[in-house]
Formats: sequence, C-alpha cells, structure tokens
Amino acid sequence: MAALDGLPPLREVLRSHDLVAKKSLGQNFLLDLNLTAKIARAAGDLSGADVLEVGPGPGGLTRGLLAEGARKVLAIEKDPRCLPALAEIAAAYLGRLEVIQGDALAINPLAHLTPPIKVAANLPYNVGTELLVRWLTPPSWPPFWDSLTLMFQREVAERIVAQPGDKHYGRLAILAQWRAQARIVMSLPPEAFTPAPKVHSAVVHLRALPEPQFPADPATLSRVVAAGFNQRRKMLRASLKSVAPDIEAKLEEAGIKPTERAEQVSIEQFCRLARIVKGAS
Ligand code: SAM
Repeated sequence: MAALDGLPPLREVLRSHDLVAKKSLGQNFLLDLNLTAKIARAAGDLSGADVLEVGPGPGGLTRGLLAEGARKVLAIEKDPRCLPALAEIAAAYLGRLEVIQGDALAINPLAHLTPPIKVAANLPYNVGTELLVRWLTPPSWPPFWDSLTLMFQREVAERIVAQPGDKHYGRLAILAQWRAQARIVMSLPPEAFTPAPKVHSAVVHLRALPEPQFPADPATLSRVVAAGFNQRRKMLRASLKSVAPDIEAKLEEAGIKPTERAEQVSIEQFCRLARIVKGAS
C-alpha cells in the first residue's frame, strides 16, 4: 500500500535501489513508517522548525519528519547509494528536503539551517555518541539546537539519563544533564530494524536548557568529572588527587565526603567542587 505522500513502501525502496544494508556503515534500517512517524512526533512540534537529520539512509525517518510538518529537513548521509531514494522524497516534498552527501562528523550544517533547529537521527552507535558529545560541548551556550531526538543502544541511552547511584551514572549523564533535560521516550526491540541488531535500542530526547543547571567552568567541570570516573571504584580523595593537592579540604568545602565515590556525587555537587577548584587555580 502506498503511503499518504504517494511514495512507495520502504521495502520496495530498498529493492528498487538495490540498497543492501552495509555493516561497515552501521546500517540497521527502520522500515515501518508508523514507527518513524512516532519517532518524528517524539521530536515535538516540528512546524516552523528546521530539522537536521543525520544518517537518513533510505529515508524512513526523513519521511516521518516531513509528514509531521518540519519546515525543512537537512539530511546528511555518508552512503551515496541512498541518494536516489532521498531524491524521490525531495521530489514529493518540494523545496523542503536538502540532502548533503558526506560524513556528518566532517560537515558543518549551520549555513544550511535557520533557527529554531531540532536534531533527529538514527545513527550508528559510535557516530551518534561522538556527535552527541560535540553537540553538548559547543564553544558557547545556548547551542544551535533546541532539542535532540536520537536513537541509541539501550545501554547508552541509560547512561545519558542515569541518576547518581545508578550503575550507568557517569560522565555522559553529567555532560548531558548539566545543560539539557534528558529522557528516554521510546524503547525498540532488535526486530524493529532491518537487519536486526544484536541489542535493544532506545530514543532519547534532550531539550537544551537556556542556562546550565548550575554555574561551573566547563573545562574544570570536565576535568574533575573525568578524574572522578576514570577510577570510579576509588574514593574521591584518591581519584581526584591529581586535580588539586589539597583536594580533601576542597571536597569538604563543597559538602562532599572525601570517602565517597564519584557515582554518588550529584551534578550540583560536582559543579560546586569545580567552582572551588577553579577559584584556587
Ligand atoms: N535513518 C535511517 C533509518 O532509520 O532507517 C538509517 C539508519 S542506519 C542505523 C544509519 C545511517 O547512517 C545509514 O544510512 C548510514 O549510511 C549513515 N551513516 C553512517 N555513518 C555516517 C556518518 N559518519 N555520517 C553520515 N551518515 C552516516
């Protein structure tokens, strides 16, 4: 059955363009248009927003984003074999889809987008995490995006939304939640994808906060958090020794027990410690 946009079902698109998934590009496609529409809706109200989509592949999520009313979708895809399928979508949604072929890690999309900008992607795990870290650590805040709606392996999604004391709590949780509101909005079993990956996946929605939750110098915070979690089993007075010679006194001043481990420390406490460390250096 043809979709409302007059485009063929995605299985037919794969067949007619001979798009056999490549493992080297992390290609696990979403072929159920109801599902891609649901992910597009998880990105919030798209009308009046430009959407940056990374890794559109045969275009299932792209079609969802356009059908949900995105003003424009800018899609960056590394695999040139996907371009003819994406050109068909561009023709069905005249003037609303721009495709750039290349590596999203090497392309600056900003010249092609007008705020407000939302980001949506179903990307290979390693590329997705690297881009997330970049998007969360721009030269200045607020960032170019209002929200990120991203598919990850379930375990990575849990690392992004973890709270102090959770086994997944660590650098990624602090990085994400210091400056954004992060939540898991959807869980997907392996069979949702073609071919099916080995692990479960989840969609994380991050909304940029206008200001970081607590004041702190980003570089100092990052140094303190990295030192704490690089040796997460050690007490902070040991793991943070390299951060400042009198770290025990600084931990006490920040209201953190020097015998505590990094996984127990809240973002507010880490920020307080970063301010004290920065003030002394
Ligand atoms: N979004 C499509 C979907 O949901 O069916 C495809 C998802 S598939 C998991 C990941 C897509 O990202 C593939 O189309 C792959 O070619 C593309 N890709 C992989 N690495 C990329 C990179 N560095 N830059 C841009 N696209 C990339």
